[in-house]
Amino acid sequence: MAQCQEVVFNKPKVELHVHLDGAIRVQTILDVAKRRGIHLPANTKEEMTQIIILEEPATLTEFLGKFATYMHVVAGDREAIKRIAYEFVEDKAKEGVIYVEVRYSPHFLANTKVDPIPWDQEEGDLSPDEVVRLVNEGLSDGELAFNIKASDRLHLYVTDFLNVLRISDFGWSMDIVELCKKYRLEGVVAMDLAGDESLNCEANPGHRKAYEEAVRCGIHRTVHAGEVGPPSVVKEAVEVLKAERVGHGYRTLEDQVLYKNLLAQNMHFEVCPISSKLTGACEPDFTQHPAIRFRNDKANYSLNTDDPLIFNSSLHLDYSTAHTYMGFTEEEFKRLNICSAQSSFLPEEEKKDLVRTLHEAYGMIKSTAF
Ligand code: ZN
Repeated sequence: MAQCQEVVFNKPKVELHVHLDGAIRVQTILDVAKRRGIHLPANTKEEMTQIIILEEPATLTEFLGKFATYMHVVAGDREAIKRIAYEFVEDKAKEGVIYVEVRYSPHFLANTKVDPIPWDQEEGDLSPDEVVRLVNEGLSDGELAFNIKASDRLHLYVTDFLNVLRISDFGWSMDIVELCKKYRLEGVVAMDLAGDESLNCEANPGHRKAYEEAVRCGIHRTVHAGEVGPPSVVKEAVEVLKAERVGHGYRTLEDQVLYKNLLAQNMHFEVCPISSKLTGACEPDFTQHPAIRFRNDKANYSLNTDDPLIFNSSLHLDYSTAHTYMGFTEEEFKRLNICSAQSSFLPEEEKKDLVRTLHEAYGMIKSTAF
């Protein structure tokens, strides 16, 4: 990593906002490209890293353009999809994460429906449905392989959920909710909406219908909102799409009435510090970051990596940034991880177990968390 990798909170952590397709190892991209005979603009890990990563704050278009440098290598390849899920679990275990919710777009990793995909990709026979099965297999194998052996209680637990891009309605959002229903007993816990926040639900009623169906069927919901879009997008996410968590949500602070309402509801904000700087969502000066206000108001939020491949980052970097530039203390790291566990999309009993595990690991004597 280019930046400092000081470990400031070497204790069990929970991560709720990370994209599988933004958390692939560069070496894996090179290996898969070689096996498939796909030409890449670089042959070494160092050179390829330089092509993929963002080092300076960028626009959304530049950021999304980074995915186009490597997604065609893994998309449509069964072995690669299983491998990236497995390696993801290994990487999270090394960061001290004991529970992670990972999200991805089954359509982007498939190759049967290539029309709206913004990179060069050949059509094939890998469906979004099979992608979900392959990711689940990779995650389960990883869970078994990378359990932290020191304590029975401290094992890494992974759930995944499916992500649909906020683009014109290709019917993908209904596909997503159907896949969530089909795979809900196999680790798929929720759905997410990401992408251009200027496209609201008036223009794309398909997303709204899919979220209504998710509510009806008890599928959990989060929405990327208020990252670069205005507070009205957060309002729509919560009030129309019935989001239970807000992805990023920084610009909620521009509408104090909305912010106070969400604080009163204990709404969870999935904060991604390094990401927020490099996507241009927040000012580059971390001493002015919205996370400071969230902390001071004792809001319910988590710290997350978002897309560590593209930001050349790790969860340690997000924590050390919060510590060094925002004055976060060990006590706050403990509090926000407990908030994260309480806001996870685990079934109630497992959630209680996770919260209890954190209390024990942090030396906080509490038999019940709520
Ligand atoms: Zn995200």
